Amino acid sequence: MKNDAIMTHLKGRILDVYNENLLVNGTTIKWFNDLKVILSEFFGVEIAHYLIFDVDSFKPLREDYAFTKNMPTIKWLDIKAFFDERNFTENPIWDSENDMNKLVKILLRDHDDKPIGLLAMDSTVKWKEFSETENIKEFVCTISKLVKTIRQSIRLVQQENQFRHLFSVTKTFNSTLDSGEILNGTLFAINNAFPQIEPTLILSNDQDRKTSVPYKLFDYTSERPATVDAYVSGEITTEIEEDLGVRLINVPIKGKQGIYGILQLAVPTDYIFSTRQKEFATSLAETTGNALENAKLYIQSHKLVSDLQLINETSHTLNTNISLDEMLVFLRNQLIKSFMPEQICFVFIEKDEYKIIGASNDYFHTDEGQLYIQHVSNHFNKVKEPLFIADFNRLTKLKYGYRSLIAVPLKEQNTITGFSIVLHKEPYYFSFDAFKLMQSLIQHSSLAISNSALRNKLQEMVNRDHLTNLFARNYLDKYVESSMKVDDCGVFVLIDIDDFKQVNDKYGHQIGDEILKQIASIIEKKVGEKGIGARWGGEELALYYAQMPLEEGIQNCSQLLMMIPLETNPSVTVSIGISSWKQSEDIDYRHLFHQTDIALYKAKNKGKNQLSVMEVSQLL
Ligand code: GH3
Ligand code: MG
Ligand code: MG
Repeated sequence: MKNDAIMTHLKGRILDVYNENLLVNGTTIKWFNDLKVILSEFFGVEIAHYLIFDVDSFKPLREDYAFTKNMPTIKWLDIKAFFDERNFTENPIWDSENDMNKLVKILLRDHDDKPIGLLAMDSTVKWKEFSETENIKEFVCTISKLVKTIRQSIRLVQQENQFRHLFSVTKTFNSTLDSGEILNGTLFAINNAFPQIEPTLILSNDQDRKTSVPYKLFDYTSERPATVDAYVSGEITTEIEEDLGVRLINVPIKGKQGIYGILQLAVPTDYIFSTRQKEFATSLAETTGNALENAKLYIQSHKLVSDLQLINETSHTLNTNISLDEMLVFLRNQLIKSFMPEQICFVFIEKDEYKIIGASNDYFHTDEGQLYIQHVSNHFNKVKEPLFIADFNRLTKLKYGYRSLIAVPLKEQNTITGFSIVLHKEPYYFSFDAFKLMQSLIQHSSLAISNSALRNKLQEMVNRDHLTNLFARNYLDKYVESSMKVDDCGVFVLIDIDDFKQVNDKYGHQIGDEILKQIASIIEKKVGEKGIGARWGGEELALYYAQMPLEEGIQNCSQLLMMIPLETNPSVTVSIGISSWKQSEDIDYRHLFHQTDIALYKAKNKGKNQLSVMEVSQLL
């Protein structure tokens, strides 16, 4: 009778707890404090804790810090057997030595017998007495109902909060096309909803990289398997990371057209990620994915327009009548403008030799720069497709300075005639879009470049004499004339083979030609980079040195005078006329030539096989 009265009284009090705790803030545990008061009044209970059930385990109420600290979560399956007969047990249910084991554990169930929570309290004399009566069932049932109702009420409030959050995030996302703002909103929403969870953004490389939001780049080769799995499958994955001492939850950031990365949540290993949290994170990541996709599409459509403009402008400029050098400098500037690389080079392949073009950075002449050229040329020897390397250091054990690389071939019909390389120190620096843009830029320029190179070759052919491969007279004329406009001084030389008629008569014209070729190559070697050699007429040759004082010219010619009889076979001698000009003297090319011709005539007159100098003063 006594216990029946207790029961009636208890039910009344518990009903009060219902009423007072409906639709209060989702995080409060006031209801449990109210329940504790009742338990203390009726059974003299001093210690009471409550464990909530989520997914498959019981875990302490988050607010109950002191309790949480030494209380590992417990799996329902591990303790199920204790509750087969009765709804409570005094058996130890925790593995470790735990004070809580001494308490009585009362299991609260749903109407379909699924657990909803665990009440742990000290087993007082009054409780023991009560628990032996029939009333115990009703008591547990009443508490269960209380908890269930409170739980539903809390869930409703939480859901409402959650939707409010999502709604405000979505609103922000819809009002912006700035991916930084979107990602910030995502992190903010997570921090707001689950302050104890550490979120990390792992984004694929095709994102707008200008964002200030901290994020990691997704990297297939170094990402954890569960992360890759989530990225590939588009499904949420979770994995315990022993090394970090956390559980990682990977939520794919999914849009309609693809997956843009992973929202990774790190929680303590024993933390149970609730169904509610999972739903929230999934919706949030999906909202983020859609917003990023919208922003991307918008930027892409703008970028497409500007890319087309760039290609158009480039093709247009390249098809105007500019020289190959100007063309490559222009292209270099376009590449710098569009991709901001740290190093650029253009390489032409001529007769299996790699020629680095002037518009390239000097870096490519260094040993390290050569390695990149080597790597790229090996690639193009095998395949004709452009090359995109996100991190060069992954390909080699040697650590090179530049880790991002794009190389695009220059093609003439189907043959590769050269290539362009851009480099940057930072790995993953160039986006895939940049790669595609560079490809179309170079492809559109390829034809203009090879046309121009061809034109240069033709011009070169016209400029050269066929027999000796020295420059032709026309070219020499233009060359000297332009030098006399821009330089300070120069030396002009005429060389005539002595008694060449007799040589021809004696050995035949063919041998005569050979001698001409021999002399041409001696001259070529001697002149080198300092000047140019030309075939002036039949057996007369000419030299011109820009920016060379007369004395040095005389020295060079004396050497030629000695070398030619030694290095020709049959041996011939030459006569040489030398003259020079200085900016101060105000003479023109016609004068210079005339002067030199007189000098040559003097050399012949004085007995050949010698040189003679004619200076301006002598002429005037
Ligand atoms: P000098 O010492 O006075 O210069 O006597 P030379 O015989 O060299 O001079 P001349 O002007 O009388 O004769 C030039 C000869 O050079 C005539 C021609 O047979 C020869 N010659 C000119 N062009 C060529 C050529 O392309 N090949 C050959 N094999 N001989 C040439
Ligand atoms: Mg002659
Ligand atoms: Mg001669």
